[in-house]
Amino acid sequence: MRFDVVLIGGGLSSLVCGIKLQKAGRKCLMVSAGQNALHFSSGAFGLLGKLPDGTDVTEPLSAMEALPSEHPYSKIGKSRITEYVSSVPAFFSECGVGLHPVAQVAEPAETAAVVRNGYRITPLGTAKPAWIAMDDVTLFASKDEKIGENALIVNFSGFLDFNTRFIAEGLGKRGTVCRIESVKLDEVERLRKNPAEMRSVNIARVMSVEENWKSLGHKVQELLQGEDLVILPEVFGLRDQVVTRWLREMIPAKVLFLGTTPPSVPGIRTQILLKKAFEAAGGTFLMGDEALDPSFDGGKVLGVRTVNLGRIRIEAEDFVLASGNLFGKGLLASPGKVTEPVFGLDVDCPSERRNWYDENFFTRQNFTGFGVKTDKDFHPLRGGEVVSNLYVIGAEVGGCNPLAEGSGAGVAILTAFSAADSILGK
Ligand SMILES: Cc1cc2nc3c(=O)[nH]c(=O)nc-3n(C[C@H](O)[C@H](O)[C@H](O)COP(=O)(O)OP(=O)(O)OC[C@H]3O[C@@H](n4cnc5c(N)ncnc54)[C@H](O)[C@@H]3O)c2cc1C
Repeated sequence: MRFDVVLIGGGLSSLVCGIKLQKAGRKCLMVSAGQNALHFSSGAFGLLGKLPDGTDVTEPLSAMEALPSEHPYSKIGKSRITEYVSSVPAFFSECGVGLHPVAQVAEPAETAAVVRNGYRITPLGTAKPAWIAMDDVTLFASKDEKIGENALIVNFSGFLDFNTRFIAEGLGKRGTVCRIESVKLDEVERLRKNPAEMRSVNIARVMSVEENWKSLGHKVQELLQGEDLVILPEVFGLRDQVVTRWLREMIPAKVLFLGTTPPSVPGIRTQILLKKAFEAAGGTFLMGDEALDPSFDGGKVLGVRTVNLGRIRIEAEDFVLASGNLFGKGLLASPGKVTEPVFGLDVDCPSERRNWYDENFFTRQNFTGFGVKTDKDFHPLRGGEVVSNLYVIGAEVGGCNPLAEGSGAGVAILTAFSAADSILGK
């Protein structure tokens, strides 16, 4: 079996790279083992929220100048980063994913193009920096912005993945007085018969029926006692944002959708829409399959096999490894070492295990920054030698710590753009 490009991994970075390549006429195969980080997403993308020394970032593009040379953003370079960043909303919009930056206050024309971090409200009612957010997720201009005088927080009765008390406490600290109510809807009540079914995705399925979402909207209206803000869990719209838009229009208050504990409905919707865009462009997606057993010719990959295709070898001109880090099983840790299991690539991590982590759980952890060593074009090293037709992108790339820096989606999307351009000879 032969393709122009084989992409390993089915998360954000692989999908973005695959869509770019397929739309440019390359015949792509994507092999995806399973769930990816989008299933756990906050619904907002980070570009750069903190510098490696912990300094908060408000303008990511200018702050990138302080990043070390091994950071993926430094490898891509400022002019390409600026170009890529400005093209992201249109790229996603063509795939049906609406993304918006924080609304900027009126500014002189010359500063209007500055990329500013906004802040999303977390399921704990605190604020975290974000570059751009899915359309049902609201971004605020400042960390401390008061988001309303009086809020009505509405949950589904028995839904434990939306912690209304934490939210009320967090918002209370920012000056918003909160009242908590729960609603019972017959169709959602049916899910409660089996507590394992009472999850965000299943509620979203129930809420995709017009009669049910309208019934919820009317119940919320009845509960309102003049509050200027209504807070609902992010459990609407696995395929589109019709329901969130309708609720925002019909409820006579500002409506804020806040994250639940995973799975993430906006994240899953994004994954579904990107996969659809990849397939619509002609790409082949192998769901629930795993790449293994590569063959090499000197410094080039010739082919791989997959678990489900058995002995059939898949050959290609170029290969893209987007299999995530320790979280996606793109890296594996044993007591003594960290390895990249598909190609046996060189991993950037401290040799001493005691330097992998800090016992203070809440501090910056080194292990969330482990990744594959690459050259400036994201070709990986294997035994110190460059593999010239393989690209490593997304969370698998070394030289950064996406969790600590708040740069996860930024690194995923921009390394994907960069690798696609290299493959296309741009
Ligand atoms: C829990 C969690 C939540 C996050 N939330 C956010 C957020 O809200 N905003 C943000 O900006 N960033 C977030 N991030 C950071 C995240 O890393 C990036 O945003 C981005 O989604 C990573 O995408 P990826 O495609 O590089 O990797 P992943 O999403 O990890 O995808 C890797 C994929 O490769 C597959 N795979 C692994 N090995 C193989 C194999 N051998 N063959 C085939 N497939 C394989 C895995 O099954 C998985 O599907 C989060 C990260 C985590 C871990």
